[in-house]
Amino acid sequence: MQDYITVIGAGLAGSEAAYQIAQRGIKVKLYEMKPEKFSPAHSNPNFAEIVCSNSFKSNLLTNACGLLKEELRRLHSLLIQIADETSVPAGQALAVDREQFSEKVTQNLKKHPLIEIIHREVGKENRNLQKLAKEGIVIVATGPLTSEGLAEQIQEITGQDKLYFYDAAAPIVTKESIDFSIAFYGNRYEQEKKKEETIEQWKDRLAEEKEQEHSYINLPMNEQEYETFWKALVEAEVVHLHDFEKKEIFEGCMPIEIMAKRGIDTLRFGPLKPVGFDDPRTGKRPYALIQLRQDNSSATMYNLVGFQTNLKFGEQKRVFSMIPGLEQAEFVKYGVMHRNTYLNSGKLLDETYCLKSHPNIYFAGQITGVEGYVESISSGMVAALNAVSNFQSNGNKREKIVFSNNTVIGALAKYVSTPNQNFQPMNANFGILPELEGKKIKDKKERYLKIAQRSLENF
Ligand SMILES: Cc1cc2nc3c(=O)[nH]c(=O)nc-3n(C[C@H](O)[C@H](O)[C@H](O)COP(=O)(O)OP(=O)(O)OC[C@H]3O[C@@H](n4cnc5c(N)ncnc54)[C@H](O)[C@@H]3O)c2cc1C
Repeated sequence: MQDYITVIGAGLAGSEAAYQIAQRGIKVKLYEMKPEKFSPAHSNPNFAEIVCSNSFKSNLLTNACGLLKEELRRLHSLLIQIADETSVPAGQALAVDREQFSEKVTQNLKKHPLIEIIHREVGKENRNLQKLAKEGIVIVATGPLTSEGLAEQIQEITGQDKLYFYDAAAPIVTKESIDFSIAFYGNRYEQEKKKEETIEQWKDRLAEEKEQEHSYINLPMNEQEYETFWKALVEAEVVHLHDFEKKEIFEGCMPIEIMAKRGIDTLRFGPLKPVGFDDPRTGKRPYALIQLRQDNSSATMYNLVGFQTNLKFGEQKRVFSMIPGLEQAEFVKYGVMHRNTYLNSGKLLDETYCLKSHPNIYFAGQITGVEGYVESISSGMVAALNAVSNFQSNGNKREKIVFSNNTVIGALAKYVSTPNQNFQPMNANFGILPELEGKKIKDKKERYLKIAQRSLENF
């Protein structure tokens, strides 16, 4: 075993990981392919490049990403410290001066006596992941745009036949924010009133479905509601795409707003098809129908089926809240569409972000299926602490460092390492944390504050 740990990729996750390892007295070899090679989204030669928005989201403890940042501050995260130091005014959010942020992270890593920086692409020539992993402990933190050669090697090691995805995630809402005076449970063709059933029997059966809560949640629309929604959707503002994304996305899958522009009825023959349902309020087939699919094992979050979208986040909130039943919906995640590379982590990784089949290979950052800057930093932190523990165990049984599920850092690690057939990248949100014990607190802010207090006490 070598006397160092290898970190591949000096992005958000890899930079944090390298620093944390070095701070614990262990040498690090940090591979970064820039400036030899840039991904289509990267352009700054410095480390921890912020590729898009300069916001690290809310700083409030009543926001899950705000709480995650506070947890990371308590763990002495270098990147959150630098984000605080380079912040620019952004109300309750933590936004950074992206140039200064990357510059400072780079300086800190470059001056660290235990960090050796190697500006080379892994996956090319003799810099092979398999070879590096034979020599010692490796953390792979090469992000959503991992270079092709390395992606192929990761596929070989993990046995995954597919690693590239067009991340076309639909928005996710919390179940508790859905209006169930409109919404109803049931699967297509199973929910309709059967000929032999009386209205009462049918309603009893639907109530039973609700108790089981395993099926889809459905939102019916009448003609007028549908037309108002359709008009808002086709007129809503979309995000500007990078050129490389435009080509790839449209080959891969179609955003709902583009489908809607093909004609007023296109959605009613596609994802909003009402066939196989009766609206319990009228006993008749609705004009259009939106389905929501369960998104986590505790059934607290549901995604809007077929709603992959490029609408701006504010527009998603405005337009999708026009759907009857979603007027008060809490969006824990907005839809996004960009190229992404991530593992089927639920199958492949454990809660320490370690590859189950190769105990000396860890993954960190967006490639594990956590999504967002702060989330990537948090996984870099967990992977690094565990790589250190593994290193120090000297081949003996290592102690795993697993954070409580009551903390956002722990809940995220648990979420990505839990098997899930429809695995999609996940950002920090309160839906992935266990509910509070005892009587439910109705006021959302008060409830989130209690969850935050529980998390910080667990720390
Ligand atoms: C187009 C786009 C827009 C995004 N917008 C946002 C946003 O607005 N907000 C947000 O929170 N998140 C956004 N994300 C997600 C964002 O990528 C992550 O939040 C974050 O950058 C992930 O951190 P990371 O460390 O996993 O990867 P990165 O920060 O991408 O770092 C990976 C590093 O690995 C290097 N690398 C890659 N392959 C190799 C190799 N073979 N050898 C050596 N080095 C290699 C890269 O050069 C890079 O420096 C966006 C992603 C994309 C692709």
